[in-house]
Amino acid sequence: MVGTALKKYAERAGLTCDGGYVYGKVRHRHIALVDGTGVKLLQIYLGPPACAAEDVRMLQAKRILENCDARRYRLIRQNAVNVGGGRAVVAFLDGPGAMDRIERYISEVMPRLDDLRLDGDACACCGEPLGEAAGYVLLDDYILPVHPECIPEITAQKSAADDGGGEGSLVRGAVGALLGIVAGAALWAALYLAGFVAGVAGFFVGLFSNSFYGLFGGRRGRTRTVIVTAALVLGVLAGQLGGMAAMYGKSAAPNAVEMSRGQYVLTRFEQILISGQEIALRRAYERTGTEAETQEEYICRNWNPEYSANRSEELCEFWVNLGMGLTFGGLSIQGLFFRKNREMHRSSPRRLK
Ligand SMILES: [Zn+2]
Repeated sequence: MVGTALKKYAERAGLTCDGGYVYGKVRHRHIALVDGTGVKLLQIYLGPPACAAEDVRMLQAKRILENCDARRYRLIRQNAVNVGGGRAVVAFLDGPGAMDRIERYISEVMPRLDDLRLDGDACACCGEPLGEAAGYVLLDDYILPVHPECIPEITAQKSAADDGGGEGSLVRGAVGALLGIVAGAALWAALYLAGFVAGVAGFFVGLFSNSFYGLFGGRRGRTRTVIVTAALVLGVLAGQLGGMAAMYGKSAAPNAVEMSRGQYVLTRFEQILISGQEIALRRAYERTGTEAETQEEYICRNWNPEYSANRSEELCEFWVNLGMGLTFGGLSIQGLFFRKNREMHRSSPRRLK
């Protein structure tokens, strides 16, 4: 996994090769080297990530590392130096002699960091001096020096952060998802009313729920996947129900005028869910019947010889709509599942030799 040029450098400088990286201590600093696409990356550890966030020395370090003859070392043209999370990453164009240029950079530019008095030998986890005891972990594509006994701790911290403990709010996210449900369901109902295939709107139920969840600052990670998926299911059901409710008064259903909107939706649902017409009518009578006619008269008056044909047609439409809604919705939020997998893949720090 490690290229020949890196391997040779590792031998010369007494660095270790593992996990696709070459790493170790050079000129009092923990560094790591890795091959990228068309580039070689030099990671320089500047101090514990927890302390680095508000440290002005990080900006100064960036300036020092950038402030060199970029052509001589053939740094990439834009954003060649990135500083964050207690480390700097310098990107060099790959090609013949790349390793020589990097070595020159390490011996000529990197020592200028010494003026900043960085905590370059503090454990990335506990912040105590590392001394000779440094072990290394690979965390989110960065090599961090830690005490070997701190590795369980940094693993626990990382998985807590991935659960979204730090950032975002569950409540704000849920409110956003709810708005997404309403917007998506409204679109669904409108399509349903206009006679289009409403299931397509499932795509937007998912899209809106997920987008609003993010816009409102919902908690990230697994929580987001669970809430947005639940919102999709609820939104699809709400869309179908809303569509049926919107048909109220437009439909030639028996007795429609005598029923309230809620009763109408219930009756329509029963027509779908209850296979026996007599049972369905009896229940409808219990809800909407008047003393002016008996149950038998009501059933007689509303008896529909096409009930079973209509019912299976509606049942079919109902399930096709739900199925389509969930399928299209799943398409619009599939990124959540892939991203989650990627995070899980990256989440556990890897102990290096
Ligand atoms: Zn430590």
